[in-house]
Amino acid sequence: MTVRNLTILGSTGSIGVSTLDVIRQHSDKYRVIALCGHHQIDRLFDQCLEFKPDYAVVRDEVLAKQIAGRLLAAGSATRVEHGPDALVRMASLPEVDTVMAAIVGAAGLPPTFAAAIAGKKILLANKEALVMAGPVFMRAVRENAAVLLPIDSEHNAIFQSLPFDYTGNLEKSGISGILLTASGGPFRSRALADLANVTPEQACAHPNWVMGQKISVDSATMMNKGLEVIEAHWLFNVPADKIQVVIHPQSVIHSLVQYVDGSVIAELGNPDMRTPIAHALAYPDRISAGVEPLNIFDIATLNFERPDFERFPCLGLAYRALREAGNSPATMNAANEVAVQAFLERKIPFTAISAIIAKVMNVLPPKTADSLDEILAADSLAREVASGLITELQADE
Ligand code: NDP
Ligand code: MG
Repeated sequence: MTVRNLTILGSTGSIGVSTLDVIRQHSDKYRVIALCGHHQIDRLFDQCLEFKPDYAVVRDEVLAKQIAGRLLAAGSATRVEHGPDALVRMASLPEVDTVMAAIVGAAGLPPTFAAAIAGKKILLANKEALVMAGPVFMRAVRENAAVLLPIDSEHNAIFQSLPFDYTGNLEKSGISGILLTASGGPFRSRALADLANVTPEQACAHPNWVMGQKISVDSATMMNKGLEVIEAHWLFNVPADKIQVVIHPQSVIHSLVQYVDGSVIAELGNPDMRTPIAHALAYPDRISAGVEPLNIFDIATLNFERPDFERFPCLGLAYRALREAGNSPATMNAANEVAVQAFLERKIPFTAISAIIAKVMNVLPPKTADSLDEILAADSLAREVASGLITELQADE
């Protein structure tokens, strides 16, 4: 196996830390060229001393000066850069062959898109990038012979359950549909009337996965599953009506592919993101991930339920955005990011998240979007409208 040279976008986050944990176990196979954090410079400093990247990136000049001074004093040769343009540069470095895209939210789109344009192998955790820019992103991947491997556990499971030579043609491969599993999050069985009063702490206490705050809230509203329906549509060329969401509270089956002959192929494992990360890092080989083997005798029972679209309106909004196409998914995604942030800052109740997204989608009818610029314009406009609605809502209180 040749040594792979990596840029890690979002190295200081939950996926970034898990990625470095897998790499630590296989330091003969992977070399870290660039580590990109944002504001957590203490964590980035430790990562730089351990993995000795050529470059480190942080949010702004002030943080860059701070960490550069500390690195120099510690005898490190890592060069520090800052800001969004530096992220794009790191994703396109000629010496880098693999980019882990693990920035959260729309901020990850420009560097992940740059990795596609530069023809890199992209390990995609940053689902928002694909949701926002679906057709434009997939075109960039195709035209530049980039390789896109899913890190999201469900999509990684689907990828592993599809035929090895799957080309995006369901019929040719005898596939009748995809079952996308969802844990249902912390509020799956909470009384509907209580949802208006749940706190950010309760929303972030996910029953099975330890994740960043934004995706934790997305799991609680099930917008995460909505984003994943759109992600699955673009990754595997599956129409929305062939993607069924299944509530599976144990998170042991990570998703399933149904075939016309009645076979159903699934991937199972303990809920630990190091499994899909190791799979994508080594693909098509296999490496150990440091994950406990699944003990099927301990699991004993697996449950499945249909999702409740009334309890989780975000799921319906995501199917709507996929149907509307154009810039609608970017609009929905931006409104969601702004509303989730406002909920985390205790400015709006949990139940206002879906209400705000629906209003933004109603105010901004879908338009075609064939370029990154058009998508980023839809993102900014939706952020502006969502912020206005949040201010109005606070004034009404
Ligand atoms: P975290 O919040 O833990 O980490 C986010 C990372 O992005 C951090 O490194 C953060 O830097 C960086 N970051 C945040 N804002 C910016 C910005 N404006 N510019 C540049 N970098 C930024 O998130 P997760 O690791 O949980 O999630 C990352 C992505 O992976 C998300 O898209 C999520 O949906 C997806 N994902 C995550 C899973 C999980 O289990 N965690 C599972 C499946 C998908 P800093 O912390 O230094 O500020
Ligand atoms: Mg997932």
